[in-house]
Amino acid sequence: MKNSAEIVIIGAGISGCSIAYNLAKKGVKNIVVIEKNYICSGSTGRCGAGVRMQWGTEMNCKIGKKSIEFYENANEILEYKRDVEFKQSGYLLIADTDKEIKQFKKNIEVQHVCGIPSKMLSLEEAKEIVPYLNTNLLKGAAFCEKDGFLNPFHTTDAFYSAAKKLGVEFNTFTEVTGIKVEKNKVVGVETDKGHIATNCVVNATNGFSKKISEMVEVDIPVYSERHQILVTEPVEPMQGPMVMSFGLNLYVQQSPHGSFIMGRGDANEPRDLRITSSWHFIEEMAKTIDDILPPISKLRVIRQWAGLYNMTPDKQPIYDKAENIEGFYMAVGFSGHGFMFGPITGVVMSEMILGEKPTIDVSMLNLNRFKTGNLLLEPSVV
Ligand code: FAD
Repeated sequence: MKNSAEIVIIGAGISGCSIAYNLAKKGVKNIVVIEKNYICSGSTGRCGAGVRMQWGTEMNCKIGKKSIEFYENANEILEYKRDVEFKQSGYLLIADTDKEIKQFKKNIEVQHVCGIPSKMLSLEEAKEIVPYLNTNLLKGAAFCEKDGFLNPFHTTDAFYSAAKKLGVEFNTFTEVTGIKVEKNKVVGVETDKGHIATNCVVNATNGFSKKISEMVEVDIPVYSERHQILVTEPVEPMQGPMVMSFGLNLYVQQSPHGSFIMGRGDANEPRDLRITSSWHFIEEMAKTIDDILPPISKLRVIRQWAGLYNMTPDKQPIYDKAENIEGFYMAVGFSGHGFMFGPITGVVMSEMILGEKPTIDVSMLNLNRFKTGNLLLEPSVV
């Protein structure tokens, strides 16, 4: 491991790998990434890996659209031979209240301004896309054919491999235990394998971001929350798009090899670093699926697991640098959409660190918004 670096990035999930790649591509020479487990061992390797343009705020629509445009060409851009497996089979957003339908219509107006090809669907049209959808409980749906999902392991590996090729040093199974600050300026990072002198640190640790920020006494209003997910036995292809409901806090997709992957939020999940699985999740998931997509509830579950959502008060990320500690940057608090924001996280953080003009104005995702109350009110989050 190097003992000095221009920039140290903590965490090698989609965010850390994308930030490392973008900085290296812009010519930064001495970048070190520290990961306490293996690449993609955090939430990134535990997620549904869905990506969508269908958001309700202009900024999120722009981030979603740019991310998807990147993912469409990720194999070529990152010179990745194994394929990130982007399946652009759409997101079918289902609504079970009139209020939600009204919100979808408003969202679509914003999406169209951003050039996103989304549309409202009647229940009959939704059934044409997913024939076994039980529409009895539903009011309508929205659809965007450009949305989809990827293989999160290959995608992260693609960023990791490209960054490595550009000279980034990755240290896995190495834990950051402290950050050294002198006169309000970052001067080094302590790890369980030794010290690295540096004046620039990026916190890309998602579920562990509060602990890392505490090392420099920067208080960030985030907490981590368990989210569970399961995979069924594989069956013949029967569902194209991701089916998602904000009201029921649910998403379901069929992976290319036939298994269904599905998850569901629950307000009673523990708010700590636990990633154990519960029987309660299986039971509730089965009930919800039986209501919405009945044939899928007959499939056998072969595995379930959990990961962390890193939550902020407005469920939107923090892209910022600390006001009082020079050289401390944060890309944290992604709630349930840090994977889909991954390509843009790397772009905007590298621009911030290098003092460049931002590709997308993400200044409203500053840390100070939680003090001023200037929150980003995004209606379409799970
Ligand atoms: P992580 O992938 O969590 O990486 C952080 C890394 O930091 C970890 O590898 C960890 O080991 C490392 N680390 C922590 N502390 C230290 C330390 N002290 N020293 C060194 N390393 C450290 N998002 C989507 O966009 N679409 C989805 O469909 C989706 N579905 C999801 C489903 C589930 C069940 C879950 C849990 C999440 C889902 N998400 C989804 C959210 C998404 O997974 C996260 O927002 C995203 O992966 C965050 O990426 P990251 O790189 O910031 O963090």
